[in-house]
Amino acid sequence: MEERIVSPAPLAEEGDDLTIRPDRLEDFVGQVQVKESLKIAIEAAQKRNEPLDHILFSGPPGLGKTTLAHIIAHEMGADIRSTTGPVLEKPGDIAALLTPLKQGDILFIDEIHRINPVVEEVLYPAMEDFFIDVMIGEGPSARTIKLNLEHFTLIGATTKQGLLGAPFRDRFGITSRLDLYSPGDLTRIVTRSAGILKIPITPDGAEEIAKRSRGTPRIANRLLRRVRDYATVKGDGTITREITGAALAMMQIDHLGLDELDRRILAVIANDFDGGPVGVKTIAIAAGEEVRTIEDVYEPYLIQIGFLKRTPQGREITPAARRHINLPQKTLL
Ligand code: ADP
Repeated sequence: MEERIVSPAPLAEEGDDLTIRPDRLEDFVGQVQVKESLKIAIEAAQKRNEPLDHILFSGPPGLGKTTLAHIIAHEMGADIRSTTGPVLEKPGDIAALLTPLKQGDILFIDEIHRINPVVEEVLYPAMEDFFIDVMIGEGPSARTIKLNLEHFTLIGATTKQGLLGAPFRDRFGITSRLDLYSPGDLTRIVTRSAGILKIPITPDGAEEIAKRSRGTPRIANRLLRRVRDYATVKGDGTITREITGAALAMMQIDHLGLDELDRRILAVIANDFDGGPVGVKTIAIAAGEEVRTIEDVYEPYLIQIGFLKRTPQGREITPAARRHINLPQKTLL
């Protein structure tokens, strides 16, 4: 199956381009409150000459959680090691990552809600008191030894904070939620990336890409590259509003950044379930998607633009969404 252009997850062929990833807090666009509290925490830790408290970032994919972890390491002058929750299966996996860490080093765990519970247990004393118990040997001669760790900082990222148990969550001194970006912030991100990549773009071209990026910087940067290709082949290389419109129409991405799958979800609720309320599991089956993907990827944006409502009885679509899906395809693009 072809990969979805407006997916907030990285696509297979695309590493996140390190040249456009901001590496200083001041270059990180938007998320003002998150930035402000991190700035204070960093300055305070530096003044006291102490490592930072453990930090938990939550929010939909592609909003900058990994980027912030690297920015923090940079600002603190610390080394960072990265891993993801699903690869941490055994206590030994996390022990191997923790023991080499030096004072102030950062361990970044993406998708931290997906680590094995036995690994989570090892992390508790590591986070709180900086030691781990390691099992040596097997059977009756097995014994545990206590290994002391340096004072490291754990930074976790999760798409949903609620998926982390309270005892785990409580061990993070700082928890920050990232929200979808406004079109204004995304315009700044597109303009900044275009500048770094030396892509000629008009202000209304940047705005148009921003409007179709579903509140997500990763999508904005991806669309910028796709539209650049189109502008090179079909235009004079400059990205304008018209070029953006034509390029995205070709990719079936409408003026709100919705693609075929979003429209299918809305149409399922509108036509098969009379507008809702309908449970997310039912929607997932009818639209042929996973529940988790619908909750993490589609819903946040559809809710942000006022197309979907979450009620205790299930999901409902709004009159605006109905009008949108009833418009002829040509008008949408
Ligand atoms: P997440 O870890 O939340 O999935 P990432 O940190 O990998 O997201 O961000 C995806 C990409 O989007 C990054 O490579 C970066 O270039 C860009 N990006 C994210 N947030 C911002 C921001 N606030 N300002 C500029 N670029 C950003």
